[in-house]
Amino acid sequence: MQKNDLIHLEVTDMGTDGAGIGRYEGMTFFIKDAVAGDTVRARVMKVKKNYGYARLEEVLIPSAYRVEPACELHRRCGGCQMQTLLYDRQLALKQKMVSEKLVRIGGFAPEVPACIFEPPVGMEQPYRYRNKALFPIGMGKEGEIAAGFYAARSHNIIPVSDCQLGVEENRAVLDCVLSYMKESHVRPYDETTGKGLIRHVLIRYGFVTGEIMVCVIINGSRLPAQQKLIEKLCKIRGMKSISLNQNKKNTNIIMGETTETIWGNGYITDYIYLRDPGSDFQRTDTAIAYQISPQSFYQVNPEQTEKLYSLALEYAGLTGKETVWDLYCGIGTISLFLAQRAGMVYGVEAVGQAVEDAKRNAVHNGITNAVFFEGKAEEVLPEFYQNGPAGRDDFHGEGADMRHPDVIVVDPPRKGCDARCLEVMLRMRPERIVYVSCDPATLARDLRILCDGGYEIRRGRVVDQFCHTMHVETVVLLSKVQK
Ligand code: SAH
Repeated sequence: MQKNDLIHLEVTDMGTDGAGIGRYEGMTFFIKDAVAGDTVRARVMKVKKNYGYARLEEVLIPSAYRVEPACELHRRCGGCQMQTLLYDRQLALKQKMVSEKLVRIGGFAPEVPACIFEPPVGMEQPYRYRNKALFPIGMGKEGEIAAGFYAARSHNIIPVSDCQLGVEENRAVLDCVLSYMKESHVRPYDETTGKGLIRHVLIRYGFVTGEIMVCVIINGSRLPAQQKLIEKLCKIRGMKSISLNQNKKNTNIIMGETTETIWGNGYITDYIYLRDPGSDFQRTDTAIAYQISPQSFYQVNPEQTEKLYSLALEYAGLTGKETVWDLYCGIGTISLFLAQRAGMVYGVEAVGQAVEDAKRNAVHNGITNAVFFEGKAEEVLPEFYQNGPAGRDDFHGEGADMRHPDVIVVDPPRKGCDARCLEVMLRMRPERIVYVSCDPATLARDLRILCDGGYEIRRGRVVDQFCHTMHVETVVLLSKVQK
């Protein structure tokens, strides 16, 4: 077998990057854009000892799970990996990926995921769910200014102003920015030369309030004829905030440190509603308002976020008296939900700006039983476990219960929890631990440590926050094994 050979094979599975997997003459092949159940003709691109990569040439017999994608650019754009797979199968595939990680990395028996997982929580309409969009601005093939994404291995922009995962309002915003650039002769930034002004346009949209924020990321300090852009943008319904972010570095980190509001507020407001997991996630009347600034972390899929947080709250099993730690709390999103049902909630977050946002959001919602600490979870938690609040100037309570909370909630970034953090959690011996994870591999690793330390997995559920992509969000409930 060698490069460029044509092979016919049946795709039997799909991998964690969304590629189809099939066997041919004893070798395993990974074929991007092929779907489990397809019979395909593919061209061999790379051959290793017992596996290889092949490019999809033709679908000979389509899988029963193959569907027409909503976006014609799905094969060229890196954003979606599974648009051609029936949505129900996407959900099943994500749950299977988590189960496999629990077995392979966590060393759990296959019965564990089989018993604990409740059906994955999907969306009824899995498109147009994102409340945040980030479009690079550059030159298209014809030399025109365009917004879209970079074509593979080039700096040409493929124009797409209407990504199917984003809201329709994005297009009006991009039209304003592009027409302003043409009229005022403003050049897009060019990564290779480091010249040109406009790099990216960030758009945030509040699904409940309809409020819109635009942040233009520039390679400089100001925009020429800035008022002309403002005049166009502020006519869009819902526009609340226009800002400039300066990024003069030649780097692929998108945003720089300085953001200046040039029109309206420095934030938009949106609401997250509590839902009832017992009645198919119907919305309740309880909602929390959040102010979101251009740079804070905020979940991108608001509908699924409501379901995820409502499940986390249900798993926490609160009755109104409990002491809860919410580690990796960001702007306090989960903490403020928990606070409605708990005695006291202590949030820990590494980013100072997010802690400020969390405190402000608590005040804004009239919540007085949530306290937020800035610092790394693996440093703040051990400190409180040893000394209580002594020595901290940001907390004056007695804090006796902080060392032995009833519940600990964690929602770490992809690298999972630090070992020191897990160790102190085990020493604190809460009744329940709720683990919200965006990476099944580190989830599996951390669950093993917690289970070896005297906990058992009771419930778990995949909540699809990132439809059509391979990203997976999982929530797991552990409880203390009674001795
Ligand atoms: N629970 C929040 C945020 C989750 S994202 C929400 O749902 O919105 C993970 C958060 O962990 C980010 O805000 C990140 O800044 C923070 N973080 C990363 N490493 C951390 C650490 N070692 N200790 C505490 N927080 C950390």
